[in-house]
Amino acid sequence: MTASVYGALTARAAKTLKLLLKRNGVSFATVAQDKKRDGQPKEPEDDKMNKPLKAFEVRDNDEGHCTIQFATNSATARREGASELNVDWESVESCRRKPEFDSYAPGPVPPLVLIAHGWHFECSECYRQVSDDMGEDLEAEDLNPNDFVPRGHGKHGVFCSEACEEKHTEDLRLNKDAKAELLRIFNEKFPGATVQHVHVFGNKLEPSEPGFCGHRCSVSFTFPGATHGGSTFVYGDDDMCLVATGDVKAFNEWRDN
Ligand SMILES: [Zn+2]
Repeated sequence: MTASVYGALTARAAKTLKLLLKRNGVSFATVAQDKKRDGQPKEPEDDKMNKPLKAFEVRDNDEGHCTIQFATNSATARREGASELNVDWESVESCRRKPEFDSYAPGPVPPLVLIAHGWHFECSECYRQVSDDMGEDLEAEDLNPNDFVPRGHGKHGVFCSEACEEKHTEDLRLNKDAKAELLRIFNEKFPGATVQHVHVFGNKLEPSEPGFCGHRCSVSFTFPGATHGGSTFVYGDDDMCLVATGDVKAFNEWRDN
C-alpha cells in the first residue's frame, strides 16, 4: 500500500483498511509510518530532534571526492552527500561511518583535522596538493618541508604555507584598493549615478583583453531616467558603457545635462 492511497481514503474507509491490515498480519504502525512519509510530520526531522547526528564519509565513484555528512542514518547521509558532491545516488561509491568525527557535529570538520586523518586538499592560493605526507614531493622540488605547514582558510579551505596565506591576504587588500580606485574614477566620470556593484578581477586595475571571458574591471550602475535595469561601465583604454537599447536616449540626455 502506498502512502498516497492511504492519504486519499475517507476516515471510514481507512478504519476498514486498518482492520483488513490487522487481519492480514500487518500492524497499524506500518500504516502510520507510510502516512508520515506522505507529507505529515516528516521522519528525518523527527530523527534530528531525537537522535544524535553521526558522521559519515560519502565518496563518489568517479573523481574519488569525499565529504563528511552529519546525519542520523546512513541513507540520509548518502543522499545529502551525493547532493553536496553534485552526483546522483548511484554514483556514490561508499557511505561509511566515521565515529572519529562525531564530536564535530553538525559540521563542518575543520580541514586540518581531515588532513591529519589522511585527507588531502588543494591550497586555496597556489593549488598545491596539501596532505600530511607532502614532504616527499616538496623535497623532490628542492623545497624545505619546514616552510610548508598547512593552515586553515575559512570553514573549508586550506593554505599550504604561511607564504600562501600572506599572499592571499595581500591580494585581498590590493583588490579592495583597486575597487576603491575604480569607484573614484567612475564617480568622477558619472556624478549622480547610483552604483550597484564594483567588480575587479585579480589585484589591480586592468583593461579587459579581447577574448577575455567577461570584463576584468567594471561598475554596474543605474542613472536617473533609466527604465531598463542596470548599465555597465567597463574600465579600459577607451572606457565604454553598456546601456540597454531602450535606455540609450535617456543615458545620452542625462550625460548631456
Ligand atoms: Zn599554496
